[in-house]
Amino acid sequence: MFKDTIAFIRDLYQTEDFIPLHEPRFIGNEKQYLEDCIDSTFVSSVGAFVDRFEADMAQFTGAKHAIATVNGTAALHVALLLAGVERDDEVITQPLTFIATCNALSYIGAHPVFVDVDKTTVGLSAEKLEHFLKHETIMVNGACVNKTTKNKIKAVVPMHTFGFPADIAGIAQLCERYNIALVEDAAESLGSYYKGQHTGTFGLLGTLSFNGNKTITTGGGGMILTNDSNLAKAAKHLTTTAKVPHPWNYEHDRIGFNYRLPNLNAALGCAQLESLPQYLENKRDLANIYKSFFESQDVIFIDEPKDTRANFWLNALLLKNKSERDAFLKETNDNGVMTRPIWKLMNKLPMFQHAQTANLDNAEWLEERIVNIPSSVRI
Ligand SMILES: *Cc1c(COP(=O)(O)O)cnc(C)c1O
Repeated sequence: MFKDTIAFIRDLYQTEDFIPLHEPRFIGNEKQYLEDCIDSTFVSSVGAFVDRFEADMAQFTGAKHAIATVNGTAALHVALLLAGVERDDEVITQPLTFIATCNALSYIGAHPVFVDVDKTTVGLSAEKLEHFLKHETIMVNGACVNKTTKNKIKAVVPMHTFGFPADIAGIAQLCERYNIALVEDAAESLGSYYKGQHTGTFGLLGTLSFNGNKTITTGGGGMILTNDSNLAKAAKHLTTTAKVPHPWNYEHDRIGFNYRLPNLNAALGCAQLESLPQYLENKRDLANIYKSFFESQDVIFIDEPKDTRANFWLNALLLKNKSERDAFLKETNDNGVMTRPIWKLMNKLPMFQHAQTANLDNAEWLEERIVNIPSSVRI
């Protein structure tokens, strides 16, 4: 049934071997910088590559400050702490996301509240968010309080799914109106823009991931983005064991985290970031090729939403129904072309099954139909 699709993807990647969903490419200065890093002996949590990676990332995204972390989950954990999220506070996010979004807020003892996504952006819906805030919350002394649980809603965490920017301007406006911190999970959207502004820079804080399957990789790594210099200082402090700077004394002023990105990983990141513009162009070409092919197959290819520029991290299709999706997954994977369904909705996992949910019609509908197809940079 999907023979043509499998042949088409094989032809795109020019191989009869297994085709993964997304594999990293090392076509630039990676080996050179790793060697330089080893030669310097600064392979661990301080070093010139960390500083450079942070500066380069701030420059690329347009964020005033960028603070590197060991991974994207750690970045999100610290960003939520800095946004003032505390135990038994609530954080609004989308049910259609990778588990890391919900893990990070759970580390603090906060609880997720799930609000639906838009079908067009596959990310948190501003319209649904407005509906929830209007009907399910009240303002008490300037704080947004959940009418049902009486807990404070401290943060909204939209996630730019597969690199497609969510309706972030609409979401940011609501966060302002209801005095809720906006923390963007931009783990998947490095190189994605909403009206020319980089994702992850619209709220109080944003976070990126450089895991091995992301657009660029540091092996493992993440980044906190912010335009607020006090938050940037606090982020650096909290991710480096809250050590008070001193030439020799061990003085720590709170319980901090060892979340600093090692210099070795940052060296890889500096080289990867140099290749990013080329990767983005390459991925956009691939998306355009897929788009015209799937049009001819009468299959919906998810394209970038209006007013946005996507990084096309993972290309995604919308199949007609669950049974067609399952047939697609089976036939492609059986033939060595890796495809994956979208994540199981967070509210269906045992840890979050009692979480409060708004109407999730769009997420439910998308969950049954979306598949990701091979999206690695073609070299
Ligand atoms: C990859 C990812 C993260 C962070 O993952 P790490 O592996 O910890 O770097 C967070 N949220 C989303 C949505 C992701 O896809």
